[in-house]
Amino acid sequence: MAAEAATTSIDEGLNEDGGRWKDLDKLILRPGTIVGDNFEPGPELKENLMKMVRVLVVGAGGLGCELLKDLALSGFLNLEVIDMDTIDVSNLNRQFLFRFGDVGKPKAEVAAKCVMERISGVNIVPHFCRIEDKDISFFDNFHIIVLGLDSIEARSYINAVACSYLEYDSDGNPSDGIKPMVDGGTEGFKGHARVIIPGLTPCFECNIWLFPPQVKFPLCTLAETPRTAAHCIEYAHLIKWGEALKRAELFGISGVTYSLTQGVVKNIVPAIASTNAIVSAACALEALKIMTDCSKTMSNYLMYNGTEGIHSKMTAFDRDKDCLVCGPGILIELDISVTLSKFIDLLGEHPKLLLSKPSITHRGNNLYMQAPPVLEEMTRSNLNLLLFDLIGKIPKDIIHATGTTSINGKRTSCLRKLRVIFKGTAEDVTDMDTMGAVYRFVDKDNPEFWGYPVPKF
Ligand SMILES: [Zn+2]
Repeated sequence: MAAEAATTSIDEGLNEDGGRWKDLDKLILRPGTIVGDNFEPGPELKENLMKMVRVLVVGAGGLGCELLKDLALSGFLNLEVIDMDTIDVSNLNRQFLFRFGDVGKPKAEVAAKCVMERISGVNIVPHFCRIEDKDISFFDNFHIIVLGLDSIEARSYINAVACSYLEYDSDGNPSDGIKPMVDGGTEGFKGHARVIIPGLTPCFECNIWLFPPQVKFPLCTLAETPRTAAHCIEYAHLIKWGEALKRAELFGISGVTYSLTQGVVKNIVPAIASTNAIVSAACALEALKIMTDCSKTMSNYLMYNGTEGIHSKMTAFDRDKDCLVCGPGILIELDISVTLSKFIDLLGEHPKLLLSKPSITHRGNNLYMQAPPVLEEMTRSNLNLLLFDLIGKIPKDIIHATGTTSINGKRTSCLRKLRVIFKGTAEDVTDMDTMGAVYRFVDKDNPEFWGYPVPKF
């Protein structure tokens, strides 16, 4: 019943002649000279865009609110939005889909409802949870993922999910299953929009160096041998903030908390509504270009700076050929005698992976899940079985592992694609298989059995 109602209202949206879609029509109904190679203008393209294309918006905060509105008004009528946060009163100045009465409610749910009420024909499914809580198969449903996040960790995770759909043919060229992403980000008056087409453009991980590592000082230096002014300030911030609390009590001042102390010391940049609007507009337009080919997509990173006047710059970053995430996957050569349990241990020892508590899936089947408890119990008996048998005695195949690893000294959720080859079963190892380093796991106590290069533990 609900599905029927949604279809009817999309049809109404399609037929809004000269109204809502007037500008969209100019882009996708008429031929042009700067269009993409596969552009086929016409009503069919418009109908596909509105009825078939499904978009996932990750984040329903300052940028996410803008994205939902912009995407819906660009003709994307099937949207889903995921966000784990609830609405705080401090969000209301810029997260314009929320009202005072919404404080405390889930952002995804309120944002979806608000946009659906304002734009006829759009259907938005909200998800109030962490992206890591969704099964990987959840992401099968979407043609494109648009990110409005403020966290590097969440971007890394979703980037790995999108790249896990990428497959390479035997010549090393990306083949089917490309899941494009558009990533927006803002901080104060600065922002970026970028297009990530796994296998063709750099993925988020290829240029993770764009984000400077957090400056952290060793605690012993701060406490005992400070050498710079920054060390002294950081000491006051970390160690002595309790004295601020005592002082506040003495003078009867409330509100001195650790988070406020951090806010004052770190000089947190205010979020600016106009930056979100500009970055979101760039992202929604790129999503439209990717899905309709009505113009070539940006290549591939747009930087925006509104601190003094307006400055923007496009940079075409290069892919990192050895990228752990969008490359062909890490090759792991195994004996057929390796059990799933042993395989999991090996992923923790692998110098490029260092995966803690990984869950393992093969072609959508859960081989071992660390959580939730009911799945752990169901898959536990697989641990003592041979991996080779568990994947149907396939000589070489892709296995996915999700777990945590250490990035910049911080534990971070990650998903890794592993190309597993069982020794003595596969035909000749192709050039593709040996792209990147090959690690052979045999026996740490018998180093002569190690292949090259010998990992150091
Ligand atoms: Zn990459």
